[in-house]
Amino acid sequence: MENQGKKMLESAQNLIIKTAKNLRLKDEVIKRIIEPEMIHEFNFPVRMDDGSFKLFKGWRVQHNSLLGPYKGGIRFHPQTSREEVQALATLMTIKCAVAGLPYGGAKGGVVVDPKKLSSAELERLSREYVKKIAHFIGEDIDVPAPDVNTNPKIIAWMIDEYQKIKGYKSRATFTGKPVSMGGSLGRTEATGRGGVIVLKALLSKLNPKSEAQNLKQESLEFRNFNLEFPRLTIGIQGFGNVGYYFAKIAAEEGFSVVAVSDSKGAIIKGHSSKKTVFKKDSLYLEPLDIPLVMECKKKKGTLAGCYCAGGVCDVNGGKLIENGELLELPVDILVPAALENVINEKNMKKIKAKIIIEMANGPVTEEAYEYLTKNGVIIVPDVLANSGGVTVSYLEWVQNKAGYYWSEEEVNSKLEVMMRQAFEAIWKKATEKKIPLKQAAFEVAIEKIAGCVGIE
Ligand code: NAD
Repeated sequence: MENQGKKMLESAQNLIIKTAKNLRLKDEVIKRIIEPEMIHEFNFPVRMDDGSFKLFKGWRVQHNSLLGPYKGGIRFHPQTSREEVQALATLMTIKCAVAGLPYGGAKGGVVVDPKKLSSAELERLSREYVKKIAHFIGEDIDVPAPDVNTNPKIIAWMIDEYQKIKGYKSRATFTGKPVSMGGSLGRTEATGRGGVIVLKALLSKLNPKSEAQNLKQESLEFRNFNLEFPRLTIGIQGFGNVGYYFAKIAAEEGFSVVAVSDSKGAIIKGHSSKKTVFKKDSLYLEPLDIPLVMECKKKKGTLAGCYCAGGVCDVNGGKLIENGELLELPVDILVPAALENVINEKNMKKIKAKIIIEMANGPVTEEAYEYLTKNGVIIVPDVLANSGGVTVSYLEWVQNKAGYYWSEEEVNSKLEVMMRQAFEAIWKKATEKKIPLKQAAFEVAIEKIAGCVGIE
């Protein structure tokens, strides 16, 4: 994982250097965007339930604050490393700039398998971690949030500890809090919802009837596409927070979500009926009933049990396929929402989707990205596609600072406006310069950040 972290860091830094050189930025400016402003590394003891003490290693990397206070989650993972945390902090700097937020980038991490800790041990670990970071975070300095294996309950312990140390209430210092502690309505669904907003914005550009037809014809090669929303088919890898809400909201918006997967396997529903959306190996695929699939997953523990023939889960006629197979299905839109590097040199030639929405962080490797974009596949980069989560975190911070709270509808509508604005800026850059969306996203972000060098 250390090596994977190194690879991830190199790849993020190389992309920044390449983009900055294209923008003809000076070496000193590039350095400001590459080098982290601060790396805090610490070891801290936590008391276990049997009375013994165990030492844990953690980091908070404060990568860049040119656009505002540092912002980024804290992950608990047995294989996390300094390099991985630094890479993720770097990408947060880019993501916040892409999303148009007044934030820089940061990330925190602790090497721990939280599944091996009791709830009391996990609480003590979370509080000890905060004791280490409390003196260099704050609502206008660095605003942490949940990430892999951390959640609103853990954030509640962290903010409680932070407030004890500081001696005053500071709700805006952490986001992703429970609603009862000042968390925002709509935060749970925000990443998935933001992805669907971006998908719809993209389709409105690709649709031949849309006003953007000229842009489309001139630049990116979309001419062979016949993308007629809302009958498009979607395959989604991952059925956790991001994948499930993407699936649910996309289905509500009229898309046909025909395949979903979790770590144990993928399901598709095969039947011949009026709702049939395409044929694969003589099997007609139909839209899945996403809320029912979720109900079934909750009962059975995994999606693998949800293709049952009986009426229990009502995914009648469903079929279990391999995880990898989902990625190769002839769907219009592919949504990797689980792991990094899942679309790579091994399977890139078998990908049939015309659009890929990167909801996970880094699901498409550099080689696959190059191959697929050359072959006309449109890939919406993670720094834009999954920025709905940090955008609603920002809305949570704004509400905390103002002491004034919005309804869920108000939060969702602000999210829509902000995601569409972010998409428009990147689309404009991509079409004007005839470059892929990822390169455009990095250019938009780096221009904003570099614009602050020397005037901060
Ligand atoms: P999660 O833990 O809630 O869900 C992950 C899902 O992936 C689970 O359904 C799991 O079963 C599935 N999975 C694991 N291995 C798999 C495999 N081999 N094949 C298919 N599915 C597999 O996590 P999440 O919060 O949904 O995050 C998913 C991804 O999105 C991560 O890359 C995360 O960094 C990224 N992300 C999340 C957020 C957020 O707000 N949650 C924001 C930005 C980016």
